[in-house]
Amino acid sequence: MSAPSEPRVLRSILGGQQVDGVGTRPNVNPSDLDDVVCVASVADARVAEDAVEAAAEAFPAWSHTTPWQRAEILDRAGSEVLARADELGDLLAREEGKTYPEARGEVVRAGQILKYFSGVALQPHGLALDSVRPGIEVTVTREPVGVVSVITPWNFPIAIPAWKIAPALAFGNTVVFKPADLVPASAWELVDILGRAGLPDGVLNLVLGRGSEVGPVLTGSRRVDAITFTGSVSTGRGILASTAGTGVKVQLELGGKNPLVVTGHADLDVAVECAVQGGFGSTGQRCTASSILVVTDDIHDAFVDAMTARMDAWTVGDARTSGTDMGPVVDESQLAQDRHYLDLARSEGAYVIGGVEVPSATSGHFLAPALAVGTAIDHTINQEEVFGPVMSVVRAADYHEALALANTSTMNLSAGIVTTDLAEAAHFRRNSKAGMVMVNLPTAGVDFHVPFGGRGESSHGPREQGPAAVEFFTVSKTSYTAPGIP
Ligand code: NAD
Repeated sequence: MSAPSEPRVLRSILGGQQVDGVGTRPNVNPSDLDDVVCVASVADARVAEDAVEAAAEAFPAWSHTTPWQRAEILDRAGSEVLARADELGDLLAREEGKTYPEARGEVVRAGQILKYFSGVALQPHGLALDSVRPGIEVTVTREPVGVVSVITPWNFPIAIPAWKIAPALAFGNTVVFKPADLVPASAWELVDILGRAGLPDGVLNLVLGRGSEVGPVLTGSRRVDAITFTGSVSTGRGILASTAGTGVKVQLELGGKNPLVVTGHADLDVAVECAVQGGFGSTGQRCTASSILVVTDDIHDAFVDAMTARMDAWTVGDARTSGTDMGPVVDESQLAQDRHYLDLARSEGAYVIGGVEVPSATSGHFLAPALAVGTAIDHTINQEEVFGPVMSVVRAADYHEALALANTSTMNLSAGIVTTDLAEAAHFRRNSKAGMVMVNLPTAGVDFHVPFGGRGESSHGPREQGPAAVEFFTVSKTSYTAPGIP
């Protein structure tokens, strides 16, 4: 699939109209830095203000549409996303750098999410019951919140926007959506598809702008009623602090520092596959990526040997080339961050397997998967989120020490254990401090019809996805009615 000669220019979409920004930003393919995927017209704060205004104006009518109208639009959009999975998957792989199968899978996920929330729009979400006082009826209804700011990271350019935008729309909210600067193309396509599926103008608005410029409008405007944000702990915390005392609803999904425990009862092949898929899939750039491998002493050396062999056979290259196991790191600064943590690990006494530059025919940010062996839990690499194809190994005396080490994480999004011992598996599931627990599965890889989220510094506010979404995207109203007829 060859790149077009003239990259197209993508603009913000406000009230159904495409709007120019104040500058441009090339969207560069991380597998091939000579390939410009598109050019984003970069919005300023004024465009963001207009987007919020458009969403606020569209809210009264949209919030009174029937669930069936909203369901139909989401269903149509989901069908188009699924029908175009090959093309949109290629676009996603080209702008973000995950492999084509991973990117196509993400697009399919986005289509499934749109269809899931199409169904959710039609489900009952209220209660009707008798009062504890005679002759009075009580109803508990769910109403849309209002204007929702949706702010998303670069690592899931279509699935994360879909899992925020779809429930927002399903429950009758209007949206201002700001994707990450690195991935405007997938975001633009999603908004375009939803618009053509029948959304009235202004219901979903897209702002292609820098976080520092347009972010404060989307999080600080008095016309915004709710903010759903996925990104780093530092940005999320800043948003939370800036909204303190305003009464705006805030939902944050932030970083992860996810342990995978491997015990002497593990099947070694399963353990290695869980580790490589969880740690190096999507180039390790997942909030749920396995980061710390806590391995009990009795299997430690065999596990490290098996990991080394598996990593040798791991192909790093162009995200869109068939046979590539792992695409590039997303950009230069993330690559520098990955290397920085590997240097730190070495300086703190670790031995690093892999992590070297990968020769390639195209210029790209290629890094071989890396495993830091011989680390202690208090080493920097085990305390901070790396967000690259980098894992570390911590040796534990036994299962109980492994659990204790795994529970030292403060960004408790996902945790896993590989074991064939039922007692260990059950104990870990009950005693892990993570928001999501995987047994004999990679720490990454979740379903869309169940809640998603972490504990500790990793999440704030109601859970996302599945039946949990109603909590954030609606407000509850309790009404009491007396017959009024004596
Ligand atoms: P980031 O925090 O740098 O940016 C996230 C979004 O916030 C981007 O759209 C960015 O432009 C915007 N932004 C930046 N400054 C802002 C401001 N002042 N106000 C409002 N918005 C602002 O994160 P990133 O580098 O895009 O993504 C990587 C991070 O996201 C990692 O920490 C990863 O763990 C996290 N993440 C978490 C989850 C989860 O569900 N927990 C999922 C994916 C990614």
